[in-house]
Amino acid sequence: MMHDIIIIGAGPAGMTAAIYGRRASKTVLMIEAKSYGGQIINTPDIENYPVAPHISGFDFAMKVFEQATALGAETVFEKAVKITPHDGIFTVTTNKADHDGKTVIIATGSENRKLGLPDEDRLVGRGVSYCATCDGAFFRSKTVAVVGGGNTALEDALYLSELAKTVYLIHRRDEFRGAEATAEQLRGRENVKFVLNSTVTALHAEKRLKSITVKNKNGDETELEVNGLFVAVGRIPENQNFAEVAELDGAGYVIAGEDCRTNTPGIFAAGDNRVKEVRQLVTAASDGAAAATEAVKYLNSNR
Ligand code: NAP
Repeated sequence: MMHDIIIIGAGPAGMTAAIYGRRASKTVLMIEAKSYGGQIINTPDIENYPVAPHISGFDFAMKVFEQATALGAETVFEKAVKITPHDGIFTVTTNKADHDGKTVIIATGSENRKLGLPDEDRLVGRGVSYCATCDGAFFRSKTVAVVGGGNTALEDALYLSELAKTVYLIHRRDEFRGAEATAEQLRGRENVKFVLNSTVTALHAEKRLKSITVKNKNGDETELEVNGLFVAVGRIPENQNFAEVAELDGAGYVIAGEDCRTNTPGIFAAGDNRVKEVRQLVTAASDGAAAATEAVKYLNSNR
């Protein structure tokens, strides 16, 4: 079956694109590898989206998915691995099937960057976490460390300081990339200990994480006993599978402007995986609207 618009990724950008596509009477297939909603489902309380002063990320995702589905968007839960242009259309290959579309919107978002330490993968769920709001409650009155110096790390440390006995904030520089106001709040918390100019170089565990080795810029190593390590060192856009049809910048983001057009006519990029300044829920939704509007223009001019 031929679809007018295939959307890869059913996060806020992809689902908004589906709403706009359906409202323009185009057929829409969303291909989602995990669960709809994307990374916003890990946010317990969204406070910065217009009209909804407080809503959980999970509820937000469910409402948008219901809205897109009620308008007639279809969804398959498969992992898209390739886009092949041929005969003026695109075949999106997944781990299960091939889907044909006249246009494609890549709205794959991003995944957690890892530290790349031995045993890091094995210890996920056994002390290592990439999501403080998901897993923080398991560390009530325990000792945890957060690695990173961006807004995620600072906000994670603040959140964990409400629960944990002690929070080490480990950052490779002595200046934070994240908001100074949050850093200032952290300085006022007695149970937050700053470990600056330092990186984590080893994880030590039996069944669960027990301690970490931290190395400072002079090369001195210290072992810190921790029950949990929250890794918040940024995210990596999930575009590599599509690099042949959508040109990427050095950091792996799709090069596309506000109109979301990639270098391949008929293929668009929307959301956190696109080159942009502000990666927020509202800008992801905005990209979805722009990408679908451009896809509809493309469809109407190529009839
Ligand atoms: P980020 O801003 O890219 O920060 C990543 C941090 O991890 C940086 O401090 C970086 O250090 C450090 N880092 C990177 N690789 C590392 C490694 N291998 N080992 C040790 N440290 C490493 O990522 P983010 O905090 O996830 O934020 C992503 C985006 O979302 C940002 O635009 C952020 O502002 C936004 N955000 C906004 C809010 C909000 O508005 N409330 C909340 C969360 C996130 P360097 O600083 O030395 O490079």
